[in-house]
Amino acid sequence: MPIDNRPLRKVLALEQNKDYTDSAVIGGLDRFMRKWAERAAESITTPRQLKNFHQLNLLNSSYASMTKPQRQDWVKSILDFLDEAEHKEIKSQKAKLPPIPKVTKPAKPRVPTPVTTQSLDSPITIIKGISANMAAKFNKLGVKTVRDLLYFFPHRHLDYSQRKTIAQLAEGKEETIIANVWQAQEIRLGGRRSTEAIVGDETGNVRVVWFNNPYLAKQLTTNARLVLSGRVSLFNGRYVFESPEWELLEDKDLIHTGRLVPLYSLTRGLRPRQVRKLMKDFIDQWAGQVKDFLPPEIKARRDLLALPQAIYQAHFPETPELKDQARIRLAFDELFMLQLGVLTKKRDWQESQPGNSFNTETIALNNFLESLPFQLTSAQQRVLKELLADLQTSQPMCRLLQGEVGSGKTVLATAALLVAAANGYQGAFMAPTEILAEQHFNSICQLLSRTGQEQAAENPYRYQGLTSRPLAIALLIGDVKQSRKQGIQQQILNGEIDIVIGTHALIQKDVTFHRLGLAVIDEQHRFGVAQRAVLRQKGFNPHVLAMTATPIPRTLALTLYGDLDLSVIDQLPPGRQAIKTKWLKPEQRDSAYAFVRRQAAKGRQAFIICPLVEESEAIQAKAAVAEYEQLSQNVFPEFKIGLLHGRMSSTEKEKIMRRFRSGELDILVSTPVVEVGIDVPNATVMIVESADRFGLSQLHQFRGRVGRGQEQSYCLLLAQNPSETGRERLSVIERVQDGFALAEEDLKLRGPGEFFGTRQSGLPDLRMARLSDIALLEMARAEAIGLFETDKHLTKPENRPVAGELARIWPDITEFS
Ligand code: ADP
Ligand code: MG
Repeated sequence: MPIDNRPLRKVLALEQNKDYTDSAVIGGLDRFMRKWAERAAESITTPRQLKNFHQLNLLNSSYASMTKPQRQDWVKSILDFLDEAEHKEIKSQKAKLPPIPKVTKPAKPRVPTPVTTQSLDSPITIIKGISANMAAKFNKLGVKTVRDLLYFFPHRHLDYSQRKTIAQLAEGKEETIIANVWQAQEIRLGGRRSTEAIVGDETGNVRVVWFNNPYLAKQLTTNARLVLSGRVSLFNGRYVFESPEWELLEDKDLIHTGRLVPLYSLTRGLRPRQVRKLMKDFIDQWAGQVKDFLPPEIKARRDLLALPQAIYQAHFPETPELKDQARIRLAFDELFMLQLGVLTKKRDWQESQPGNSFNTETIALNNFLESLPFQLTSAQQRVLKELLADLQTSQPMCRLLQGEVGSGKTVLATAALLVAAANGYQGAFMAPTEILAEQHFNSICQLLSRTGQEQAAENPYRYQGLTSRPLAIALLIGDVKQSRKQGIQQQILNGEIDIVIGTHALIQKDVTFHRLGLAVIDEQHRFGVAQRAVLRQKGFNPHVLAMTATPIPRTLALTLYGDLDLSVIDQLPPGRQAIKTKWLKPEQRDSAYAFVRRQAAKGRQAFIICPLVEESEAIQAKAAVAEYEQLSQNVFPEFKIGLLHGRMSSTEKEKIMRRFRSGELDILVSTPVVEVGIDVPNATVMIVESADRFGLSQLHQFRGRVGRGQEQSYCLLLAQNPSETGRERLSVIERVQDGFALAEEDLKLRGPGEFFGTRQSGLPDLRMARLSDIALLEMARAEAIGLFETDKHLTKPENRPVAGELARIWPDITEFS
C-alpha cells in the first residue's frame, strides 16, 4: 500500500524555501525523516527502489551536521527518489488511460506565408492590432519599425511544454495540464474578488484559483477545454493551481500555455498576455516577409536555419532544439555582419590609395639590430618579421601590436620607424600624453644613438643612399617653446625631420608632413580608429602600427579591432623579476605603511592608489585630497608626497608626474587615473586601496607601474570587506602574473561592458551573440574573410542581398551602389 508522500514533499519544499536551515519541522529533519522512513520502508515494492531507498540511509540521517551544499544535495536526492517512485505508480495507472491528445499540432518548423509586401522599415502602426497609442508604448522599448518588432526577442521562455495528467502533478513544480472545466465561479479570497474553478481530466480533479480576477469566471464555461500552466501548491492537503497561465483549447496554436512561452520586456500599459498574443499574430504574418540575406552556400555549410524560420522560432519555439538553432542563426548574423563591417573598413583603407612599399633589407636596420645591447626574444623576432612583411607591400599596414609593459614593443616600433626613414619617408610616433611622448622620445633617441655613435667614425649613419645626413628625431609637444615649435613644424614640412614624436594631437593639429610613411600609435585602445580617418583626409596613406599594453582577450580584439591584423609579444625579456603581489588583511595596513617607509628610506618610491569612492570624478577627487592630507600629516610626515587626481588640469598632472619621476617626490597618492605606461624605474611599491573593487586587468595595469627597474618590486592590495567575487579576483591576481590570462578571466568574471571600464564605448549591440561565443565568432570571421576572398566588393548577384544588409547596418562605411 503506497504511502502519501505529500506531507514529506511539503516539508522538503519548505526546507528549501528556508534556505536549508533545518527549520521546516519542529524537532529537526532527521527525526522527521526517521519516522517517515520507517513507514515508507514497508511500502516499497521493487528491488531497485529498495536499493535506492537504502542508499539514502534515512533511518539514521545526519542532516543536522551537514554543510549547506550537502543539505541541498541530500534534499534533492530524496525528491528524486520520490519522483521515481511516484512515476512508477503513475505509469501503472496510465496504462488504463485513453491516449493524451497532442497539446499543439505536430511540431514542424514553419515559414508563414507572405501576406503583404510592405517594407520592414514601415512604422509598427501598419501592423494589424497596433494603434498609435500602443505604438507609443513600444517606442519606449526602442521598437519603432516592423523590423524592430521582428527583432524584439523575448528575454526568455518558460518551459510549459511538458503536459502532465492531474494524477502526475507534483507540488512546487511548474506543470501543464489539459482539463475540462467542471465549474467556475467568483469567490472572495482575502477579501478580494477572485475566480475559483474545479477542472478535471481522466485521472482526477484539481482546484484552480486566480486572485483578483473575478472576470475570468465568466469566460470559463462548463465543459470548456482549458490548458493550464503554472506552479502547483498544496493547500489543506490538496493540490491547487494558483493564478496559472491559462487558455482555452481551440483549433489554434497555444500561446500562453502548453509550450515554450515567451516572456517579453514590458513597459507601463503593456500586459504580458496582450503582448504575447499580439506578437504571435504579428510573427505569424510577418516573419515570412523577411528576406534571408545570407548566401545559401554559407547557410548550408554551417547548417544554419533560414532567417524567417529563425525569427519565428526565436519568438515561439516549437522545441528547445529549434530555439537553440534560432539563437545560433541570429547570433551568427550579428557576428558575421560585424566582421563584414570591420573587413570593409580595412578593405577601404587599404584600397583608398596605394601605400608605400619599403625596402626592408637595409643596412640601417641591420646596424640597429646589431647595436642593441641584448638579443631580441623569439616573440620579438616573430613580430618583427610580421612588421617587415607588412612594410614591404604596398598595402598599408593596419596592425595592432599587443604586449605587456616591458615586453619590448618600443624597440620594434623603433626598428619600423628606422626602416621608414631609411626609405626616405617620415615616421610619426604618437603617445596618449605629453609625458609619455617625452619618455618615448628619450628611449627612442637612446636606442638609436648607439647605432649613431658606433658607426659615426667611418660609416656615418646612412640610409641606402637616400640621404647622407644623420637621422633627425624631434619631440613636438605643448611644452616646447612656440618659436622652436614653429621651427620643428617647418622642418617636418620640408622633410628635414625623419622621426617625430608627440601626442595624438600630432596628426590632428596643424602639422603637415612632407612624406609620412609610418604612424605608430601607442595605447590605441583608448582612442579608436579616428586617427586613421584623419590621416587619410590629409592625403597620406601611411602604414599604421597601433600598440597597446592592455592585454585584450581574443574575442574582444576580433570584435573591436577586427579591421586590424594582430601581433602579440607573449614573452618578456629574460631576467625580469616577477612583482611580488600580496593581498593584505585590513589590520595589516600599518605594516604596509611601514614597508613603504623602509623602501623610501632606501631611496625607492611608492604609489598609493586611493580608495575607489564613486564613479564621480568630483567625489573621487575630494576623497583623494582627504587621503593625501591624512597620509602626509599623520602617516608619512617625513616624506615628500604628491597628489594626482582626475579633476586636475593635464598640465598640473604632468607637473606632478614629472616631479615624481625625477625623484623629487617619494610617494605619489593617486586616484585610479594614474597614467598607463608611465615609466618610473625607481618606484618599487604599489599600494592599491579597495583593490577588491577593481577588475583584474585594471589591477594588473596598476601593478605594471612598478617593477620597471632593477630592484625587486611589490604590489600590496588592501580590501576592507571584499565580496565573494572580490576575494576571488584578489586571490587570482596574487597568483597570476600573465596579463592575458588575467584579461580572459576578467572578461569571464565581469563581461565585456565593464572590461575597459565605463568609458569604453564602441561595443556593438549584440542581442543574441555573446562575446564568450568564441567558436561562433571564429566561424563568422572565417566566413566573412572567405566571402571577401571570392568577392571583395560583394558585387556577385548571389551576394547582393548580403551587401544590401551590410549597407543597411553600417551606412557610414560601405560604398555599395
Ligand atoms: P614596452 O614598450 O613593450 O613597454 P620597451 O620596448 O620599452 O617595452 O622595453 C622595455 C625595456 O626592456 C627597455 O629598457 C628595453 O631596452 C628592454 N628590452 C627590450 N627588449 C629586450 C630584450 N629582448 N632583452 C632585454 N631587454 C630588452
Ligand atoms: Mg612602452
